[in-house]
Amino acid sequence: MKYISTRGGSEPLSFSAAVAEGLAPDGGLYIPAEFPNIQDKLEYWQNLSYAELCFEFMKLFATDIDEESLKDIAYTSYSKFDDTAIAPLKKLDNGLYILELFHGPTLAFKDFALQFLGNLYEHLLAKSGKTINVLGATSGDTGSAAINGLLGKKGVRIFILYPNGRVSPLQERQMACTEADNVFPIAIDGTFDDAQAIVKEIFGDVSFKNEWNLSAVNSINLARILAQCVYYIYAWLSLEKSERDNVQFIVPTGNFGNILAGWFASKMGLKVANFKVATNQNDILYRLFKSGVYEVSSVKPSVAPSMDIQVSSNFERFIYFMEGENPERVCEIMGEFKCSGKWVFDNFSAEDFSASRMDDSEIATKIEEIYKKYGEVIDPHTACGFADISHKGTKIILSTASPAKFPELIEKVIAVHPTAESLEKLLSKPIVNEKMPANTQKIRDYISANGIK
Ligand SMILES: *Cc1c(COP(=O)(O)O)cnc(C)c1O
Repeated sequence: MKYISTRGGSEPLSFSAAVAEGLAPDGGLYIPAEFPNIQDKLEYWQNLSYAELCFEFMKLFATDIDEESLKDIAYTSYSKFDDTAIAPLKKLDNGLYILELFHGPTLAFKDFALQFLGNLYEHLLAKSGKTINVLGATSGDTGSAAINGLLGKKGVRIFILYPNGRVSPLQERQMACTEADNVFPIAIDGTFDDAQAIVKEIFGDVSFKNEWNLSAVNSINLARILAQCVYYIYAWLSLEKSERDNVQFIVPTGNFGNILAGWFASKMGLKVANFKVATNQNDILYRLFKSGVYEVSSVKPSVAPSMDIQVSSNFERFIYFMEGENPERVCEIMGEFKCSGKWVFDNFSAEDFSASRMDDSEIATKIEEIYKKYGEVIDPHTACGFADISHKGTKIILSTASPAKFPELIEKVIAVHPTAESLEKLLSKPIVNEKMPANTQKIRDYISANGIK
């Protein structure tokens, strides 16, 4: 299987090479050159464990990785989850389910992809004898999930910049209490934008980037999307056969990585009637799916912070398919969008999709309503998924984070204090981080002093 760029200007690569590359050299994103058909495999996949299913699925894509290694990667990646089902499907009502994607080590759905990616990196580095230094900026969830995915991995050091005092105390602990000696959390005296600007500047310094083999933790890596396809198939197979004909997946959405994975699975033959893009008040995608106009506005910080995005980095993959797999057209749209912050799709028709949005006060009300109605405590991201559950058929809402990550809001709304054992454990551990000014040269020096070669 080969992987091609959405912008058509890069050589097709093998799976391993595309994973190592991340972003394609022409600025595009890698996608499979073709989608395998999984329809006739579903019967056999029915009885597999999550890790087995992951192995069987990824085997279709990671064709240049030997099967023994791939199996190891799949099994190791889901060994740190605290529920034996890994992605349990929980029934709330007739035809209404939530898919709990928060049983991984950092209690958010990003663990599904980043645990897999961490193990994959370790395997690829061992094979090539190379080392990498991963550098990223985070406002919370991605940083902790990336750190956990790379925890203790050989040949890898990870440097994560975050704004000092502006990530939640629990998120800071998830990054700074790992006790791993290859993890370097850096609390910047500045904002998330300052942290991101420093990371960008360092990546722009090509000789430094090459000297340290710097790599990004971003949500655009091909392996992340593919690893996320697995829980859509797993959830679908967890349904009774009679419930599989008219399924809607409802997905709390930010960077469009999660929902894109589901749509890819449907392109491979998983029978799904509809995908609902559920946004918070940062609703660029909601507006697009309602009107065909894709237009940036400024980010308004919300109570569902992991969905506070301006531009969805994965959306380019969707545009590629929407526009008839035409890379020139993708270049045109992305170019114009970068310039003016706007693109109007004419006759935009995405029948497979629908959309909803929720502002902060609606999220709080919804958390209360769901608790009263079903006795279920949901986190603010998951709450966005309940905006519109009118689909006549089976609805599966993806629950992307554990409520225990957002105790303040939940306590305020329903007077329940959600907890999780793994978070409680962190409270007794010392915070180990480096406090630094928002100064690019100082960060570069720090990497030089602590990086791996
Ligand atoms: C990252 C994240 C999302 C958004 O997922 P995308 O793939 O960026 O659309 C939603 N909820 C939580 C809890 C997240 O961490």
